[in-house]
Amino acid sequence: MNLTDWHRTARSLSLGNRAVIGGRQVEARSGQGFASVNPATGETLAEVAAGDAEDIDAAVASARNSFESGAWSRRAPVERKKVLLRLAELMRAELTELAAMESVDMGKLVRHAAGNDIPAAINILQWHAEEADKVYDEMAPLPEGNAALIRRVPLGVVGAVVPWNFPLNMAIWKCAPALAAGNSVVLKPAEQSPFTALRLAQLALDAGLPEGVLNVVPGFGETAGQALGRHMDVDCLAFTGSTAVGRLFLKYAGESNMKQVWLECGGKSPVIVFPDCGDLEAAADQVSSGIFYNQGQVCSASSRLLVHQSIEKTFIDLLLKRLPAYQPGDPLDPKSGLGAMVEAKHASNVMRFIDEGRREATLVAGGKAVTVGGKGSFIEPTIFADVKPDSTIARDEIFGPVLSVIRFSEEDEAIRIANDSIYGLAASVFTDDLSRAHRVSARLTAGVVAVNVVDPVSPAVPFGGFKQSGSGRDLSRHAIEKYTALKTTWIRYRC
Ligand code: NAD
Repeated sequence: MNLTDWHRTARSLSLGNRAVIGGRQVEARSGQGFASVNPATGETLAEVAAGDAEDIDAAVASARNSFESGAWSRRAPVERKKVLLRLAELMRAELTELAAMESVDMGKLVRHAAGNDIPAAINILQWHAEEADKVYDEMAPLPEGNAALIRRVPLGVVGAVVPWNFPLNMAIWKCAPALAAGNSVVLKPAEQSPFTALRLAQLALDAGLPEGVLNVVPGFGETAGQALGRHMDVDCLAFTGSTAVGRLFLKYAGESNMKQVWLECGGKSPVIVFPDCGDLEAAADQVSSGIFYNQGQVCSASSRLLVHQSIEKTFIDLLLKRLPAYQPGDPLDPKSGLGAMVEAKHASNVMRFIDEGRREATLVAGGKAVTVGGKGSFIEPTIFADVKPDSTIARDEIFGPVLSVIRFSEEDEAIRIANDSIYGLAASVFTDDLSRAHRVSARLTAGVVAVNVVDPVSPAVPFGGFKQSGSGRDLSRHAIEKYTALKTTWIRYRC
């Protein structure tokens, strides 16, 4: 599709703006709403229901009723699979609209939404749907006369609170395994990006998901998010977002019903480029897309580049050559290289880091906030060199298109700098030496260490972090462990 087609699609979108609770679209009980703004133009897209504690109460009650009814929780796994696969098909049929929705909602490049993000969300849903009837239970090896059946059972009501950077993906990463396992869900999307989650709830009903099994309550973090985190009848809270808010969810659980809390939080992922890397051009391609994809608003963005001093200049030159492909433009234009920042407030935060970087290091490229066609919040792709490992731009998660380049001279030094972080989400190593690849990967503290590639994601591979990047894993067969409990039925029989 070309620019005109995408603009036409975006103009004709019908944006759901009410919560979906118990299978019905409802206004917030308070009657309050909030404006959802397109960050590329500043225009208000819709006034969206601002759910708060009362709406969360209603959604949790509806989720609990649906769970207890057994309409979903006790349905044969093969039947749950069919419904979720049907949902994936309905989403595929609306791929273009869903992609345009995410683009106008949070400034993402539409070619990325249509080419990567939305198809990935659908594939992940399909993968977990297929898993629904492939989870086997166990029997314990006990003496004769005893049979202990160890089953994986759904937890009940799962609360999911997700961020704005990959709105539909983050919702699917939580909802798909939770639903496949038989839970009911209350999902709170980020206030910056509610539309695809609301559409998901509607499509799920169309696919045959019973009413009340997937409830979506848009609203703010401190109100709706906190109410879900503190709710006494929520069994598990799955969160993706900042480390600061992840910490709050642990507190909410401790001060309420000790619900299980699973956190996918921030990162400051290192990429280490060794001089024995056989293809520096390919490495430069990976590093650039690793930091500039989605305007750097990616938890596992490769925001720290550790490059060996002997190839530092060559490698920075290779990165500079790639910058023309990452210039800000209209997110709906398939030729644009970089989309808008999610909102003006976030763009200002990123610019504060860039100002700090100007004091701490050498600005090599970018560094300016810009508009496109006189509108919106955009930031140039930015590279800092001579970055000291203990400086702010080397330590803090900036969540913008800002790369901090740190030079090193020894392998041990690179590992020490890479691990010297409160985060441990992802890391990459570029080398052609197999022994070095194994040796360094084994010593890096990160949930995923990628060799000769940056940030690969597949539904078949677990994703999540060490340290303050969180706990538990999304994706893969391990995700379902978060949404089930082991339940034993111990039977004594006569021999
Ligand atoms: P955020 O933590 O501000 O918000 C995330 C969600 O939490 C939103 O729905 C928000 O409304 C809610 N929230 C905010 N304050 C809250 C509060 N006081 N109580 C309860 N809920 C609250 O994060 P963000 O700015 O939307 O997203 C960016 C962050 O997400 C980054 O730190 C990024 O690294 C992280 N992230 C992590 C992963 C991962 O898988 N590890 C993936 C994507 C994003």
